[in-house]
Amino acid sequence: MASATKDAVVIGAGFAGLSAAVALAERGVRVTVIEGKPALGGRAYSFEDPDTGDFVDNGQHVLMGCYTETLDFLKRIGAYGQLVFHEDLEIQMLAGPGQSAVLKTARLPGPFHMTAALLGYRHLSFAERMSVMRGGLRMLAMRRFGGDELRRLTVAQLMDRLGQSEHARRCFWYPMSIATLNDEPESSSAQLLAEVLKRAFFSRRRDSAFVYSRVGLSDLYCTGATRLIERAGGQVISHSIVEMLELGARGAVASVRLRDGRRIEASDFISAVPAPQLLRFLPENAVADPFFSRLAGLSSSPIICVHLWLDREVTNSPFIGFIGTTTQWLFNKRQIFAQRGEAHPGYLSFVISGARKLVDRGNQEILEIVINDLHAMIPASRAAKVVKSLVLKEKNATMAPDLLSHELRPTAKTPIANFFLAGDWIQTGLPATIESAVISGRAAANAVIARSPANSY
Ligand SMILES: Cc1cc2nc3c(=O)[nH]c(=O)nc-3n(C[C@H](O)[C@H](O)[C@H](O)COP(=O)(O)OP(=O)(O)OC[C@H]3O[C@@H](n4cnc5c(N)ncnc54)[C@H](O)[C@@H]3O)c2cc1C
Repeated sequence: MASATKDAVVIGAGFAGLSAAVALAERGVRVTVIEGKPALGGRAYSFEDPDTGDFVDNGQHVLMGCYTETLDFLKRIGAYGQLVFHEDLEIQMLAGPGQSAVLKTARLPGPFHMTAALLGYRHLSFAERMSVMRGGLRMLAMRRFGGDELRRLTVAQLMDRLGQSEHARRCFWYPMSIATLNDEPESSSAQLLAEVLKRAFFSRRRDSAFVYSRVGLSDLYCTGATRLIERAGGQVISHSIVEMLELGARGAVASVRLRDGRRIEASDFISAVPAPQLLRFLPENAVADPFFSRLAGLSSSPIICVHLWLDREVTNSPFIGFIGTTTQWLFNKRQIFAQRGEAHPGYLSFVISGARKLVDRGNQEILEIVINDLHAMIPASRAAKVVKSLVLKEKNATMAPDLLSHELRPTAKTPIANFFLAGDWIQTGLPATIESAVISGRAAANAVIARSPANSY
């Protein structure tokens, strides 16, 4: 069969949209990516701070060795060399000044590397460590053999089932759960936690280790992806909002209409935007379809990231978890990034995930909370002068990982034959993360290719 040239429009240039577009471009499809904002990158973007010259990520993004699809995507676009791979997982957890314990995986084949990390975690008593290990094994067994059981439980309910003490929850389970799922254990899905812990902590040793980008996020993947798409004859158009999907004969999408009046036609279309934005540009008769209308039921959860530039370094640790404070994680950017800002020796970024109770407060109040938490945990930091600060709130940072989301997350395929969905919130089995976004993008691209009469590109 003669191979007709296929063209596709991808709406949205975050990880999902760019991974879909790259997968299509690699298979000979002429792609047009349309991004509403002036800059690409979506929720994983960075910018250069004009005062310090530092690259600031909207929120500290951490990749892990288990992000296999993301790492493969970064390899394809030539960005792999910008990554720093840690050999082991090593998380310092502070429960107060000088009260430090480290979760450090051992040089053993997985999952024994993690068993050793738990055995050495001194915030828990020996009995608690054994209980956490038994609990972890039971959770993995439930994931494998328990049918739908985990789907119906929140993380807090799972902890009840596993007989985990308040102290073990506070010092181990909940920091991990909130960081990976971005919401409170009382509402987050136990199934999503089990999936993350299985992939990240109970598989291969290298899967557990952190992977950081040496450069700002936007530089990490937007430039390389754009280059690949353009080399394959496609284009990336920014600062152009899609206002409407236009249906043609037989109910297929014929074109997208942009806010400036332009109209772009193609044979296939992928939406890689979050659900609320998708519902805005769907035609009315499509929104009425239960496949789409139910998406309005998905909710989101916020993340706050506070950046502090100090006149000195206050810790040598690259990464610290705080137990018992509002502030959850400290990232020491001078230790993480290869490139070190000259202007100010101390550059820290702090993360508060699932920040529902805080997100509507003023920036100054949030800043004071974070600085107080820093002073409480690292008293030496009291002597440091804050040179500059930045509070970044992402109100709709990620899809809320609640039990309802299992029913509401859609597949890549929609009832419209030539229209597909991508985005971290699509049904991937993972919480809304970069890995989920990249997987969804590739799935949507595969669905486009599979629909092609000439799918042997
Ligand atoms: C502060 C913060 C910290 C995070 N930390 C981590 C982490 O450590 N690890 C991790 O794995 N994940 C993390 N995440 C989640 C991760 O950023 C997301 O899962 C991922 O970036 C989502 O990518 P996406 O392509 O699905 O969506 P998005 O990045 O939201 O991309 C959608 C794009 O579509 C565009 N768009 C929307 N509407 C239109 C329209 N009408 N026309 C044209 N364009 C449109 C948007 O401008 C946007 O660029 C974090 C998120 C935040 C906010």
